[in-house]
Amino acid sequence: MSHDRYEMVVGLEVHVQLRTRTKAFCRCATSFGDAPNQNTCPVCLALPGALPVLNSRAVEYATRAGLSLGCAIRERSVFARKNYFYPDLPKGYQISQFDKPLAEHGSVALGDGRTIGITRMHMEEDAGKSVHDRFAGVTAIDLNRAGTPLVEIVSEPEIRSSREAGAYLKAVREILVYADVSDCSMEEGSLRVDANVSARLHGETALRTRTEIKNLNSFSNVERALEIEFARHCAVHDAGGNVRQETMLFDANRNEVRSARSKEESHDYRYFPDPDLPPLVLTAQYIDDIRNALPEFPAARRVRFMRAFGITATEAEVLTADRDICSYYETVATASNDGKVAAHWVMGEVLAACNDGAMVASAIPVAPQALAELIGLVSAGTLSNSAAKTVFAMLAKEGGSARTIAERDGLLQIGDDGALRAWVDEVFRENPDEATRFSGGERKLQGVLVGLVMKKSKGSADPKKVSQLIGERAGK
Ligand code: ZN
Ligand code: MN
Repeated sequence: MSHDRYEMVVGLEVHVQLRTRTKAFCRCATSFGDAPNQNTCPVCLALPGALPVLNSRAVEYATRAGLSLGCAIRERSVFARKNYFYPDLPKGYQISQFDKPLAEHGSVALGDGRTIGITRMHMEEDAGKSVHDRFAGVTAIDLNRAGTPLVEIVSEPEIRSSREAGAYLKAVREILVYADVSDCSMEEGSLRVDANVSARLHGETALRTRTEIKNLNSFSNVERALEIEFARHCAVHDAGGNVRQETMLFDANRNEVRSARSKEESHDYRYFPDPDLPPLVLTAQYIDDIRNALPEFPAARRVRFMRAFGITATEAEVLTADRDICSYYETVATASNDGKVAAHWVMGEVLAACNDGAMVASAIPVAPQALAELIGLVSAGTLSNSAAKTVFAMLAKEGGSARTIAERDGLLQIGDDGALRAWVDEVFRENPDEATRFSGGERKLQGVLVGLVMKKSKGSADPKKVSQLIGERAGK
């Protein structure tokens, strides 16, 4: 059944773990993958009398995240208790922010001209984790993650398709990774998504009842879950029914969205200012200093690269996807003075050499200056393209200078007329049949003859010059 009459309305809540070494309100480590309950103390175990102390690094990262997302930072924000019972929440409340969040009124550009508004971004702590052991038939609690600093980024309900939801998440992740506030790894749970979705007729302005799909753990699951839940809303509306406001879970294996519980309203959480924590007060100077130190973000960088280096939008996209690759490319493009060729090298040989996808500058085996030198040798005609690939492989293995390696291994291209003529003469002498036919006007043999000279020179001859020299003997 077609749901073309309906428009999808989506708002996303993204929880992002800040990459501090220690937790938000105690000194326990935030490291991932440790034995259960190893990184705990009286504060994050919620023992009576233990008091939270705010991690200043978490504030710095949260402020940077807010500014990176175009938000206004509140100079005085307030931590509040969000009360609910859950086995992995030993305090019986989560420290969060409610009516005075750290950041508000931001926006994220999607690259196609569309912009999605950000309502707010607040700081909060993570809960622990319930570990269900089906075989033993028990559920155990791991509090290593309890108290880990998070920011929750709440978008306006301005997302209009599952594809757009994916684009928004990609943009948010890209910005936060560039801002260096989180690794945004969905596998390790440092980026988690809740999606609010509803359906309404095109042209309608009021919002209809939404449902919330919790804890989506990949971008593709977000898109799949939205499509399924949107179709369900449309069917309910078509049948003249009402969508009930509730919290849903997405089962990726069964590809279904099902009800988890009826949705709480914020008043159910009995928010109130946390008496253990004073309001968070930031000076205008502190906020400005962080703003002034923000990096150039990928969207701006793509535009600049396309202008400065003459590369295409697609190339710019690939080259800016990773911060380290991006600065590597910029160094090579600037030093070689040929952004286009540099783009081909980085997108080809360099990315291939950074195997297993761990694209960090320290893992790029060839120094950018060495690659720039290599590009220069090719454009000067000193090195052939295929020889350049050999030199690149050597550079990756042993480092050093492109020219030194090319000289040592006899890979420099020979463009000297005397040497080239001698090889051409030899080839014509050794292949009298082809030589006669070529001289008689059979021009299609030129490629064969050039190939023979290249072979004789072991690839070191400049093929353009060889072709020119052989061409001079045509028809004679
Ligand atoms: Zn602790
Ligand atoms: Mn939250």
